Amino acid sequence: MLSNRASNISPSITLGISAKVKELKSKGQAIINLSIGEPDFLTPDKVKAEGIRAIKENITKYDAASGSLKVKEAVCQKLKRENGLDYTPDQIVVSNGAKHAITNGLLATINPGDEVLIPVPYWVSYPEMVGLVGGVPVLVQTKKENGFKVTLEDIEPHLNEKTKMIILTNPSNPTGNVFSREELENLCTNLVEKNILILADEIYEKVIYDEEFVSIASLSEEIYDKTILINGLSKSASMTGWRMGYSATNKTLAKAIGSIQSHLTTHPSTITMAASVVALNDCEEDVNLMVKTYKERRDYIESFFKDWGRLDIIPPKGAFYVFIDIGPLAEKIKADSLSLQVCDDMIELHKTAFVPGIGFGQDDFIRLSYAASMEDIKEGLKRFKTYVENVLED
Ligand code: PMP
Ligand code: GLU
Repeated sequence: MLSNRASNISPSITLGISAKVKELKSKGQAIINLSIGEPDFLTPDKVKAEGIRAIKENITKYDAASGSLKVKEAVCQKLKRENGLDYTPDQIVVSNGAKHAITNGLLATINPGDEVLIPVPYWVSYPEMVGLVGGVPVLVQTKKENGFKVTLEDIEPHLNEKTKMIILTNPSNPTGNVFSREELENLCTNLVEKNILILADEIYEKVIYDEEFVSIASLSEEIYDKTILINGLSKSASMTGWRMGYSATNKTLAKAIGSIQSHLTTHPSTITMAASVVALNDCEEDVNLMVKTYKERRDYIESFFKDWGRLDIIPPKGAFYVFIDIGPLAEKIKADSLSLQVCDDMIELHKTAFVPGIGFGQDDFIRLSYAASMEDIKEGLKRFKTYVENVLED
């Protein structure tokens, strides 16, 4: 009954853990959830008010399949103002979340058998998305000593005539690392010279602390032309449930992406698009406040691991994740998957949820999301420390 495509697919591990936590909570268990990558802030009031206005003013009918002109113009203004990028509305397609924008971008560029380079550790959905459109995900292992930032050296052994694209996430989920301008320039100039497309997932752009954020398309004209820029409002404006993401590309690709979307979903809800204009233009203060809070939590977690001194973390510079090296537990825990076992133990014995690194292709790590209250973070880390000390002393 099932297509090959459906037989081979596995559900999102991050969403799966979140569902498990909700189920346990509904049974009365007090679980601390440090797993899901979903902002713990409310959508800003003025964005909600605009959504309500859109309903009241009957902005509830079909619009252009690639998104309303107003929202596409607001995206162009944002890209100019914040990233120094020149795009026109016919280069923008507004989709149902960044996930949808990424899948559209893959559908528009990948032929069966084309290879897509995915640096490991990767965000859970990339390999599945590439497989879904008939492409071949090529996993490129990166090095812990480079903070898991992919380098040309990592990529070179995987290049061949079938290599069509690379997916770069900056800031990174799951590592929280951020590329410098120099690193991006070196990497992307070389890849584009080899005619490789870049899918630049910049959804965590705003959640960045001490570093400069550099949008890949701004590096050079050649890179601009070969980049599928992906962004959205799930993280920056705490709008996960509204489903707003977008792509910015050259005109040929944008036209193809728009045609694909016109047959699959049309546009995101008109209510979401109206509210998104406000989120894109007028939410700087709200975003700054969220980022300030994330930074306080990041600083606490970093000093916690430093004071404890037992396990390494990748120094978190952006997004709201900490990637924790659980390699030292391998000697004590014998399991098919170390990270699954540790996360199972933490949830069963210590009622605290993390995401196992195996979901990101890196089994000797687990991911902590600090899109959670400081109280939960402190208690979750206390429990994790107790667990690790017990395991190591056994
Ligand atoms: N890219 C990355 C790296 C993510 O972590 C996520 C998860 N939210 C997405 C894309 C998808 O976001 P959206 O909610 O806009 O579909
Ligand atoms: N991207 C978030 C995460 O990594 C949300 C879950 C998902 O979309 O898979 O946790």
